[in-house]
Amino acid sequence: MSKENETLDEFICRAGDSPILVSACLLGLRTRYDGDSSPSDAVLEYAGQLRLIPICPEQLGGLATPRVKASLSGGDGEAVLGSSAKVVNEAGRDITDNFLRGARQVLALAKACNARFAILKEKSPSCGVFRTYVDFELVEGCGVTTAALKIPRFEIFVIA
Ligand code: SF4
Repeated sequence: MSKENETLDEFICRAGDSPILVSACLLGLRTRYDGDSSPSDAVLEYAGQLRLIPICPEQLGGLATPRVKASLSGGDGEAVLGSSAKVVNEAGRDITDNFLRGARQVLALAKACNARFAILKEKSPSCGVFRTYVDFELVEGCGVTTAALKIPRFEIFVIA
């Protein structure tokens, strides 16, 4: 996790020359479930200067864009990794396997490029860091990919 009260500038300075995984929607890519993006001006200021690697775990897990809205069910991303919670979409389909596959793909990409820093989008069932959706309600907890990145102790900065 990032240090308490650390700014994005300080986080990026600490990352130095290391590649940084970034939730793709923060870079303006239209990867969200509704086919839109969530561009962050603060992150986009660094595009072109740093080794930013866009990732969308839900796309990497094989889900289409746009796609039916999803939520964790029965617990947060750590509980999904521990098999005590699952991921469902608004149509009632169990898409836990897609979310787990997406998290594994992100870890594989991180390993391939030797990344250990990430900037992630808050509130997502995949990328949320402090808040995510469980049973379609916003609660404290992290998404599935964030939970997976915590295991190798990734440095994570969250964008609201
Ligand atoms: Fe953005 Fe992550 Fe959701 Fe993909 S899964 S749209 S990168 S928040």
